[in-house]
Amino acid sequence: MELLNNLILIFRRKKKEIKGVRKQVSSAPEEGSTHPAGKSEQNNNPDNIRRNEPGKENKESINKVQNKPKTVGELRASGYRPVSIREEMRRNIISMIKGNKKIFPGIIGYDETVIPQVENAIISGQDIIFLGERGQAKSRIMRLLVELLDEEIPVIKGCEINDNPFSPICKSCREIVARDGDATEISWLSRKDRYGEKLATPDTTIADLIGDVDPIKVAEGRYLSDELTIHYGLIPRTNRGIFCINELPDLAERLQVGLFNLMEESDIQIKGYRIRLPLDIFLVASANPEDYTSRGRIITPLKDRYGAQIRTHYPVTIKDEVTIVEQEWQRFSGDELEYYVPDYIKEVIAEITHLARKSPDISQRSGVSVRVSIANQETVVANAIRRAITLGEKLAVPRISDLGYILASTTGKVEMESFEDTDEEKIVGDLTRKAVLGVFNRHYQPGELEDIVQQFNGGFSVETSETTSARSYVRNMKEIRGMAKAVRVMTDSETPEIVASIVEFILEGLHLNKRLNKSRVQGKTVYKR
Ligand SMILES: [Zn+2]
Repeated sequence: MELLNNLILIFRRKKKEIKGVRKQVSSAPEEGSTHPAGKSEQNNNPDNIRRNEPGKENKESINKVQNKPKTVGELRASGYRPVSIREEMRRNIISMIKGNKKIFPGIIGYDETVIPQVENAIISGQDIIFLGERGQAKSRIMRLLVELLDEEIPVIKGCEINDNPFSPICKSCREIVARDGDATEISWLSRKDRYGEKLATPDTTIADLIGDVDPIKVAEGRYLSDELTIHYGLIPRTNRGIFCINELPDLAERLQVGLFNLMEESDIQIKGYRIRLPLDIFLVASANPEDYTSRGRIITPLKDRYGAQIRTHYPVTIKDEVTIVEQEWQRFSGDELEYYVPDYIKEVIAEITHLARKSPDISQRSGVSVRVSIANQETVVANAIRRAITLGEKLAVPRISDLGYILASTTGKVEMESFEDTDEEKIVGDLTRKAVLGVFNRHYQPGELEDIVQQFNGGFSVETSETTSARSYVRNMKEIRGMAKAVRVMTDSETPEIVASIVEFILEGLHLNKRLNKSRVQGKTVYKR
């Protein structure tokens, strides 16, 4: 009977531990993982938008729809004053700075470098080019610029280029306003529809970006020189909005000329016809710094046109890298299985990426994206889940031995300087060992673990593998004097799966500090003296 009671007690305690872990797991995403696209909607409404469009609640928005001017005349009577996109963004960012609002939610590690420069560019009304290697949140910042626009603006109904109701620039709208005057119908364009983006490739055409002659309109009997025959490209369609060109140096020179003419002279030239089209666009671009500065990739006048050249960068600290990974890595809900990622694993993953960014074996020109860290964390968690299922364990906790699997999620995202496959494995393996050593030595002084090392004298050895059960590690911990204390440096938990992960971290750390030998025997790792 007493035995049974004890068993129940143990069972309850274990259950509590797991619960504790689960709490930790489920609270983690809230720390900052909300996708900025979802979050910004609520957080980022610049105050002054409501000057024209009061209210955001359901009830109020019904009123809003009813009260919103529907014609040019009503709009004029409402006192609405359209402003240029630069004025609009400037006014809204100033109001956000005043209100101490976070302007780029979800962007980590740029508070003192990139963000102030973006703010300056917008306050000074300058077009921006972001220079940076891949995976430095350039696209994300560009998309977040939309949040600096008014919630909605009025446009002439049906206009392909979002004409300002008071001063239309397209021929068709000018004709409509001349005919209908104040009765001209308007519609309201939401800010998410005022953003355009194009990845520049060598085969991007004038037709894509600027426009083309529409053969159907010509067939209807219009002359080629008639502005009404134009089928507008992406840029004119983003009139009164933000247009981003990714990888600007990949744009053919004649397109760069076309872009420059449009920005500087408000001219568009299609198939030899020149049309004046004073578009109002906030232009943003991105480029790899080496492409951008290399001679001849960008025509000089276009380069001069970008007022602000802002250099992005990778997370400076391991902490920032870990925070970004925590925010971005893909979790699945609905699994019965719980998982828990110990901090040291997160640090090791971030450290591997940081070391890769300094490695002479890896192309630094293309860079090592934060996406490498994100994918690697997903991989080690996946491997831990696979193990937990196989072993029938309740909690999936990644271990050092899972890190061997990051080869798959690393090699596709970085470019090696050499071309042999065998090198990739060695390079990633070396980076991993260096990272584990670095993280280990930040948490432990190897000298304070001498007691553990001594016990390996005289033939004692410990076997580990990615498929060894957590209980077996717990037995090791109890057998090796000082191990339990060393484990407590990293965790208060007694959950076997967590303990197992940390025991392995300590053994590997001692090995990397040359205190223990390590050999591989039939898929198992043996630590001994
Ligand atoms: Zn128009």
